[in-house]
Amino acid sequence: MMEKYNVIVVGGGHAGCEAARISARLGAKTLLVTMNMQAIGQMSCNPAMGGVAKGQIVREIDALGGFSGKVADRSMLHFRMLNRSKGPAMHSPRTQNDRHLFARIWRSELESTDNLAFWQDEVVGLQKEGKRIMGVVCRSGLTISADKVVITGGTFLGGVIHVGEEQRKSGRAGESASIGLSGQLRDWGFETGRMKTGTPPRIDGRTIDYSAMEIQPSEEPTEVFSYDASNLFQERRHCYITYTNTKTHEVLRKDFHKSPMFSGRIEGKGPRYCPSIEDKIDRFSERDRHQIFVEPEGVDTVETYLNGFSTSLPFATQLEALHTIPGLEKAKMFRPGYAIEYDYFPPNQIKQTLETRLIEGLYFAGQINGTTGYEEAACQGLMAGINAALSTLGGSSLILERSEAYIGVLINDLVFKGTNEPYRMFTSRAEFRLSLRQDNADMRLMPIAQRHNLLSEEASHLYQAKVSFIKDFNDCIRKTSIRPEMINALLIDRGQDPIRQSVKLEKILARPGITTHDLVAYTEEFAQLVKGQRPHYIHTAEIEHKYSGYIAREAENVKRLQSLAKVKIKPTTNFDEMPSLSKEAREKLKQFKPSTLGEAQQISGVSASDITALSIYLS
Ligand code: FAD
Repeated sequence: MMEKYNVIVVGGGHAGCEAARISARLGAKTLLVTMNMQAIGQMSCNPAMGGVAKGQIVREIDALGGFSGKVADRSMLHFRMLNRSKGPAMHSPRTQNDRHLFARIWRSELESTDNLAFWQDEVVGLQKEGKRIMGVVCRSGLTISADKVVITGGTFLGGVIHVGEEQRKSGRAGESASIGLSGQLRDWGFETGRMKTGTPPRIDGRTIDYSAMEIQPSEEPTEVFSYDASNLFQERRHCYITYTNTKTHEVLRKDFHKSPMFSGRIEGKGPRYCPSIEDKIDRFSERDRHQIFVEPEGVDTVETYLNGFSTSLPFATQLEALHTIPGLEKAKMFRPGYAIEYDYFPPNQIKQTLETRLIEGLYFAGQINGTTGYEEAACQGLMAGINAALSTLGGSSLILERSEAYIGVLINDLVFKGTNEPYRMFTSRAEFRLSLRQDNADMRLMPIAQRHNLLSEEASHLYQAKVSFIKDFNDCIRKTSIRPEMINALLIDRGQDPIRQSVKLEKILARPGITTHDLVAYTEEFAQLVKGQRPHYIHTAEIEHKYSGYIAREAENVKRLQSLAKVKIKPTTNFDEMPSLSKEAREKLKQFKPSTLGEAQQISGVSASDITALSIYLS
């Protein structure tokens, strides 16, 4: 018999690691039960973190006291700030990571976390009393009691792997599927669906001719994921780029009928934005080549990842197609690509705390909620872990608004809009994306994290230092003047109108194309202030100044929507009485029963005109 826990986290993937760590750090007695301790923190697919919109999520996780940003920084082989040429809302950090190091760091972080215990086993069932969770039942026969249970089963629940015409039960290559849990939850009234995802073959790096490929070197990482930017891994590796061609497409196309997807053997929906190579060739038949990123898996292995070549065609077809690609003519495979189908739980069955609506104390986080991606999983794990722990310890729950964080957008979308295909984050999903930047996740979320005791003393200190730097920065640019003869040469060089009399630095810095670094050469006081400061302090101060008009407009919009959002909808409201509602909106409102106009607004299928009709009726 095991002792009773406050929180049991089932699964040691990205969601599970964050959930278990934060729950224990908050003081809840926590147990992580996972099928394979060797696979804690395993990156199932590409060993990379961040990217467009996902990089913002990792920074938000860091600002809320999570660990994904730190582990990514400490195992980074390659760094890029994506979309640097676009506006600041689009800047997104991305790292290529050492897969083994990443997992090792996660495990060692968890093992050094107080209040956290481990148990390697498969959870095959749950225990409840009435509508309340009581604990878990393991394959070993052990029953473990807990106040709260967080399930983060990833792709393992009812997992089936497909390679060509072969299929077998599995949660990930080389690991068993989790069988039993979804069936019990279905018996308890939960709805489940099937989704699928895929992964490319891994190649022996010694058989790759890199000279036939374009090099993509790492940038010097200046603004990494974690705000403390400590213990960065120092070894860098190049990534490379090559392309498929018409010959490759011909080889793959001739065996499409053997692809489980095309033959209809896989019923689940796949990630629209991370399609397999078969899918790309089929959907974009006019294109005669597709880009492939050739990415290292680690410093102590020659295993290499082919980003963009995810496939579930037979092994022989995969190899034949690879041999038509420049640089891969002699490539040998370590492992073939494959597709995996798994159970997910349509996420309208959870609340914004990630607790299920049906069973009190039972939380779902990660891929099981219909998302795809480590970052999406990790942030849900963090939020579920926080809420499960706070709930058992008697704290108030933490729910992030859409205007506060991408994490808020993600959870909101899942809970109110649901998803029937793997959900990944994009900047376009956020209404207030100029405010939800990667550089200011600390400013947005650290005060919230402080209120919930999620932040270390060191992080609080860094946050205070940034706040006071930004204040000094603003004071300095408001009071410091610059004379025409000092700055006009630069302005003319940048295609700007020269100035005729002295102006304040704030006016010059507001001009497009003029940066803080341009101005330090002209004023000693400003140069002293900026010297040696962390790049993201300067970056945030500069962006907030340059875009202050737009940011203020966004803030006004948020306020307007927030006051509208607070309008209450009585549970007895009869939506059938409102003829001007669309049929879809009426059905969705009856299904989701929103308690405020704000919640109604977020339901997919409820349009702006439905909201107008509803607000007129309510008033
Ligand atoms: P996982 O990382 O899958 O972790 C689940 C954990 O739960 C595992 O440790 C497992 O052992 C444990 N577990 C499961 N059931 C039980 C149980 N009953 N009892 C105890 N422990 C249990 N994402 C992308 O963004 N792009 C991609 O191209 C992509 N391709 C992928 C390809 C493949 C083949 C796979 C498997 C995943 C892919 N992903 C991709 C998804 C990405 O891996 C996941 O989104 C992410 O890992 C989900 O994290 P998670 O914590 O929810 O689950």
